[in-house]
Amino acid sequence: MVSQRPYPEETVSAMEKHRILVLGGTTEARGLCERLAGDHRLDITLSLAGRTIEPRRQAVPVRMGGFGGAEGLAQYLVDEKIRLLVDATHPFAVRISGNAIEACRISGIPLFCLRRSGWVCEPGDNWTRVSSIAGAVEALGNTPRRVFLAIGRQEAHHFSARPEHAYIVRSVDPVVPPLDVPDARYILDCGPFDTGKEMDLLREERIDVIIAKNSGGSATYGKIAAARALGIAVIMIERAATGEVETVGTVDAACARIAHLFSPDMNLGV
Ligand code: NAP
Repeated sequence: MVSQRPYPEETVSAMEKHRILVLGGTTEARGLCERLAGDHRLDITLSLAGRTIEPRRQAVPVRMGGFGGAEGLAQYLVDEKIRLLVDATHPFAVRISGNAIEACRISGIPLFCLRRSGWVCEPGDNWTRVSSIAGAVEALGNTPRRVFLAIGRQEAHHFSARPEHAYIVRSVDPVVPPLDVPDARYILDCGPFDTGKEMDLLREERIDVIIAKNSGGSATYGKIAAARALGIAVIMIERAATGEVETVGTVDAACARIAHLFSPDMNLGV
């Protein structure tokens, strides 16, 4: 039960439920849905792009696949009588976030973002900051190096432009087609990743440089902490600037925002 003062289903059956659409694909979206699932005043749907071959079980009903751009999303919000859209997509999923802003502008439905903060460069880190995948390809240079490519499978193919390097590519689902390079090995795994195990991997594979997105959060931070401990360089792809949307950084803050929007006495376990 997520609410500390739960409303039994029969008490609220006559009341209008607050319909919320959560755009997901992240640990935060999953966590938010788990927190909201047991509250009978809320009717939550989680939307996933459908990229992951075997998505994890979720605590709320899931809809899968694109909406057909901002207009399609706006139509969905109206048709489904959604009262609030929460954009809890990955910080690098910029297209859907732009669509969310535009769809809410069209439909007049409120929107806020649940987005974790980015990692901050600490003493001992050796980061080269770039603003795009193309920038990371460029920064890698052409002196052969052993590269740990940890940016997900969708954009890994860009590194076929640098065939002189040896790659260890880690992703949740297989990289298809594989990189067009003579030396690449693939690891299928999903976080969370422990710093100690990341250090073992970096040592065993004699990694010289890590390519990472500044995703933030703890689940994939292990490789960054491990790189610091071992003095390994990181090419860090930074986030693009986001539009003007109210943003919270934690599931707690998102619950507080939802409670504030719908009912001051709504206690979502914050
Ligand atoms: P994207 O480039 O921003 O979006 C491309 C299209 O995919 C969107 O225009 C939309 O299609 C559809 N889409 C994306 N997220 C959706 C969602 N939650 N529900 C329904 N449709 C969605 O997104 P992406 O970078 O390919 O990421 C896809 C999904 O993977 C996102 O849910 C994201 O949270 C997750 N993810 C992304 C990354 C990353 O590094 N990019 C990392 C981890 C997880 P329509 O225009 O047809 O609506």
